[in-house]
Amino acid sequence: MRPITGTHVYSYVKCPRLAALDLHLPRSERRPPTEWEEFAAQRGRDFEASYVAGLGAVAPRHPERDFAAGAAATRDLLLAGTPLVHQGVLQTEDCLGLPDLLRRVPGASALGDHHYEVLDVKTSGRPRGEQILQVVFYSHLLTALQQRAPSHGALVLKDGREERFVLADYEAAHDRVLAALRALRAEPTGARPFLQAGCSGCYHDQRCLGELTAAQDLSLVQGMSHGARAILEALGCRTIADLASFHPQHARERGQLDAALVRRLRRAAQAHLLGAPLVETRPRTERCRDGAIVHLLGDPFADRVLAFGTLYPAVEGGRFTWTRAADADDEWRAFDELVAALPERVPLWHFGEALPRWYEGQVFAREADPALELRFQALDKRLRGAATYPRPVFGLSDFVQFGLQRDALRAGHPGAAALWARGGDGDERLRQKLETDLRDLAELIAAILEAPPTVQADSAEGVATLGL
Ligand code: SF4
Repeated sequence: MRPITGTHVYSYVKCPRLAALDLHLPRSERRPPTEWEEFAAQRGRDFEASYVAGLGAVAPRHPERDFAAGAAATRDLLLAGTPLVHQGVLQTEDCLGLPDLLRRVPGASALGDHHYEVLDVKTSGRPRGEQILQVVFYSHLLTALQQRAPSHGALVLKDGREERFVLADYEAAHDRVLAALRALRAEPTGARPFLQAGCSGCYHDQRCLGELTAAQDLSLVQGMSHGARAILEALGCRTIADLASFHPQHARERGQLDAALVRRLRRAAQAHLLGAPLVETRPRTERCRDGAIVHLLGDPFADRVLAFGTLYPAVEGGRFTWTRAADADDEWRAFDELVAALPERVPLWHFGEALPRWYEGQVFAREADPALELRFQALDKRLRGAATYPRPVFGLSDFVQFGLQRDALRAGHPGAAALWARGGDGDERLRQKLETDLRDLAELIAAILEAPPTVQADSAEGVATLGL
């Protein structure tokens, strides 16, 4: 029986299917990490190592992967009252945990006049639910060993701040996750894949996408939810082709799903079968191409913007300019220079939250023109509302792939920007990526926001056009 680990708890919260596969498949079945994924993972390990280095924590000595020996050595350290234990091994009959740190706190337990609590070191800037549940899981294993439940657990975040929380607040959620993991360990088919934003960064992506495509799973349809999929399948609407021609007459025939939702999902299934976006009818009050597109590449680990780029006018052949920010103090200059070179008052189109969030962080510290923020216009929201796409669209690469039928990552993955920034040809790779993204965005404006609406798929003409 494979033990349930803290990693399984973490994975389950992100995706039950991920935990199920991890519980049943050998590591060799995972896709190998990309160069930039490995780079990000190494930065996390380096951060933990450098944080722990100055603490004087003691690690239990044991042969590699001999967890029984590790658990015995950890117990000895805890019995001896070692103030801080690094990567102790906690084991019960069917669970295994390797918390980053165990800290001695006052209060009697089976270990003596003291007991321990769990700290986990994370590279995120704020605590997340799956990280907290991991600490609760380790705390349960610790409780079994010291015969006393610690009252608190803590996460150490990337700025070194310690976020303490009361374990009892998360007990019920932890118990539900652990019960679900035990069920999945006995029967992995209890968790089916469902296409979601995290799939593109998951090492089981090829396996799941292959299964979803073969089954023509409803989660490949834009706007689908777990609940709607379950209801539609129970009604006998199991594939995308079924959904594309699903015309229930009454609320009961549509499983009480909202009629507008069913119409939207049906249209999304039709877009999937067509393999192209269906442009919606909507009021057109402005010409997006008269504005400029502003884009950035960042390093989320370091909370840094590496480079900004602009395209003006917002057409594929518009003038591209870019600037590299040498360091955090140089980011404002880089942005300010680029925007100052654009005509005054033109709208500044941007994709996603990165630019407004960065600007908000800067504006209090700078003599920023408050009118500038009013020029920001969110392209992603417009693009999402203007068409129905053949697959769910989460990030820019999805809009490019399913809006333009083009490989959005042909100039590289934005997650690799921090890796490029370290290399000899880093500036050139950043420039290429910015320019490619900006020209793709301009094409999306032309193809989606400024295109005439697609014929209604449910009309007689549409049925013939789409072959439904
Ligand atoms: S690819 Fe997606 S559905 Fe499959 S395990 Fe990963 S996150 Fe879950």
